Amino acid sequence: MKNTYKTQDTFAITTPLYYVNDLPHIGSAYTTIAADTVARFQRLQGKLVLMITGTDEHGQKIQRTAQSKGRSPQEHCDLVVSGFESLWQQLNIQYDRFSRTTASNHELIVKEFFQRVWDRGDIYLSQQQGWYCVACEEFKEERELLEDKYCPIHTNQKVEWRDEQNYFFRLSKYQENLQAFYQEKPNFIQPESRRNEVLNFVNQGLQDFSISRVNVDWGFQLPVDPSHTIYVWFDALLGYVTALLDPDSEPTLENALSKWWPINLHLIGKDILRFHAVYWPAMLMSADLPISHHVFGHGFLTKDGKKMGKSLGNTLDPFELLKKYGSDAVRYYFLKEIEFGVDGDFSETRFINVLNADLANDLGNLLNRTLKMAQKYFKGQIPDIHGEEIEITHPLKAIGMSLGKQVIQAYSDLAFSQVCEAVLALIRTGNKYIDETAPWSLYKQGQLEALAEVLYSVLESVRLASYLLSPIIPNISNAIYQQLGFSNDFNDKSVINSSEIFVKQANWGALPKNQILGQPQPIFQRIELAETVS
Ligand SMILES: [Zn+2]
Repeated sequence: MKNTYKTQDTFAITTPLYYVNDLPHIGSAYTTIAADTVARFQRLQGKLVLMITGTDEHGQKIQRTAQSKGRSPQEHCDLVVSGFESLWQQLNIQYDRFSRTTASNHELIVKEFFQRVWDRGDIYLSQQQGWYCVACEEFKEERELLEDKYCPIHTNQKVEWRDEQNYFFRLSKYQENLQAFYQEKPNFIQPESRRNEVLNFVNQGLQDFSISRVNVDWGFQLPVDPSHTIYVWFDALLGYVTALLDPDSEPTLENALSKWWPINLHLIGKDILRFHAVYWPAMLMSADLPISHHVFGHGFLTKDGKKMGKSLGNTLDPFELLKKYGSDAVRYYFLKEIEFGVDGDFSETRFINVLNADLANDLGNLLNRTLKMAQKYFKGQIPDIHGEEIEITHPLKAIGMSLGKQVIQAYSDLAFSQVCEAVLALIRTGNKYIDETAPWSLYKQGQLEALAEVLYSVLESVRLASYLLSPIIPNISNAIYQQLGFSNDFNDKSVINSSEIFVKQANWGALPKNQILGQPQPIFQRIELAETVS
């Protein structure tokens, strides 16, 4: 196979291909918000980005769910997929590819990949006995099970005993290769706690896993034995590869891998860590393909401190949340309030308090009152002063000059919460600075030069803040840029960015003097606590 793998300037990121047994829940929204934010940040830096999301549609669980609802499996999948597409649109997710594992080009990719692994001698037929959780689509060790044979993850679902012939993948053969790989690439699994989890699991000794099922029609037939279908996870992981195909290119592995492989980052929830950090690299080793660069497993969400779930009567409907508060509010809360990687909680009261404090009060008010003063004192123009003319010791410039670097590092570390905190620190200093310098007094005293410096430095700080937050709250950033007199559209994916533009815009001092300002309008409406239902 051709070995022209991708260059430094491309960046490919994936969400999981979500299982379509039900409409998307808040956990899927959380992963996808984070992935979209990373993709937007990379695009802003001038990288060529491919963001992949999609759906995993095969397996017994889907077959049974469809049956119970009186639909064909494909009808069921199509219905749920439209729910995902609608949610991503409402959340302002700008994915490039939506990979469905029932697509015909995917079948060809799966079969070609299977053949490579087969030719390598890594697949064999054997007897599988064990406890199977249909909801997990995974065999469980007896010791993992709860009392009365309930699945430890699906605590209201009993596992089923299976005793059947399956084809197995020789995972055990890759034990040492995997261990060496984790040593060589200490950043492959993030964060550190997940890495340790995986190392512990692998160090206990890997067992071969079955990659075929009998009596499951809803899947691809095994090329070497049509009485079996391919195990849903073996099929689903390859959906990342199929997604890389250009729409009009022939579905071969060579075409799929020619431009974007290896994937830079798989963002996942910690529940599917083993598949991505153990099975997937082993499968790629077997097929003699390079391994993805990073797998990041984020934490679980709770609501009001309690585990979420339909059966527990404690759910958070992402559609309702969006209808009530809009996409920027939802994106901001989850990325700012929860340290990415650890478990986090949603409470509506905290949600409202955070948005009011950060977006309505700190950011919104600072822009609004400064714009009004610029209207009044400078005829609606940015004052006639350039960022470079302002002393380096100026309290806002001093913070602003190092902010870009700090925020770039935080985005690269997926530390979204730190991004927000660092930007807010500048904004809060801006509010304090206005109070202390009292521009209205400067105006009365006729100190126009000092006044120009005050207003310029505050407006520039708001600009910088909104630029750096644009991957998280693109609509609010657009509103701020428009009020500052720009015509940028952070939602326009076709805009060609470059690293030069990025370096300039991510630095303090880029606001052009004398630019005509827009009309001051609130960028985020305060939410009244009384509006909430819960
Ligand atoms: Zn389960």
